[in-house]
Amino acid sequence: MVTNVTMPSAAGDQSGEAPLVKATDLHRSYGATVAVDGVSFELRRGEILGFLGPNGAGKSTTLKILTGTIAADSGSALISGINIEESPLEARKRFGYLPESLPFYWEMSVGDYLRFIGKARGLGGDHLRRRVDEVIDLLGLGRMRWRTTGALSKGFRQRVGLAQALIHDPEILILDEPTNGLDPQQIIEVRALIQNLANTRAIIFSTHILQEIAEICTRIMVIHSGKLVADAKPGELSGETSDGWEVVISGADISGTDWRRLSLEKAGSIRGGEHLLTYRGSGTPDITAIEAAARETSATLLEVRRPRKTLESAYLELTGMAAKGRGGGR
Ligand code: ADP
Repeated sequence: MVTNVTMPSAAGDQSGEAPLVKATDLHRSYGATVAVDGVSFELRRGEILGFLGPNGAGKSTTLKILTGTIAADSGSALISGINIEESPLEARKRFGYLPESLPFYWEMSVGDYLRFIGKARGLGGDHLRRRVDEVIDLLGLGRMRWRTTGALSKGFRQRVGLAQALIHDPEILILDEPTNGLDPQQIIEVRALIQNLANTRAIIFSTHILQEIAEICTRIMVIHSGKLVADAKPGELSGETSDGWEVVISGADISGTDWRRLSLEKAGSIRGGEHLLTYRGSGTPDITAIEAAARETSATLLEVRRPRKTLESAYLELTGMAAKGRGGGR
């Protein structure tokens, strides 16, 4: 059932540069629950990797292992070549992390909080002051600078979360549901920000929003029950399939023809006067015979094409949810 899987990196390695993130055979269980089951991948500069999967699939656990928040039972995670378990402090300088829920110091103002995180990341003096100003500006937090983090709306808290992830200008960003809790305008802004940041960085972010993936990611990884079931470019998951044929006929009423003799089955009307038929025969449909059959009923053959798969149907297939519908969403 694994389709379009291109390992280890859909983007390939044209630069010759070592991967900024390298996960090798990560495993992690919570008691009897296997949360991450043999996850391996590499991430390179310029990539925006959308990490997709239903609730409970293992996204957060994978990101927590990569960031050293929890340890893997086995396997290794390298951040800019540094083993996160062996040298967590060194590795942390290289990435920014927006966790699922950020530990805030509720009494601190936004400015103080960002200064505090900056210091913890090794910044100081003028550099720290400049970076605090820059991330406040970048995330549109100017008006909130003196407000305590405990008094912020969910959307502004999420922006502060992004600001703290960026404070030390890391080359890797690991973001757990970065648009969670944002309003539509803020979501658009954060997506644009992620795209801008990706030029010189590697970004991995988890989401359960398919539209987000299609819009900004250069690569998609789908996880299901702790296992990677796809690693591909967005266009490779959706788009044309190589499975069977569809025929589109234009005509007011096409019931006057026995389409079954051409191995065609009516699959429904597309829009006014256009009908979709599915080819059930072997090999390719006989276009000349179909054209002749269409003429019998004053209709026209418009198109013989491969069926198209949407990103959503590909996702449902990969996560085994097609039969159950949209289960597992948050
Ligand atoms: P996702 O981020 O894709 O929603 P998670 O990584 O949070 O998935 O969870 C993967 C699996 O591990 C789920 O079955 C979840 O219930 C379980 N799990 C996650 N964290 C814990 C924990 N702290 N204790 C016990 N089980 C957990």
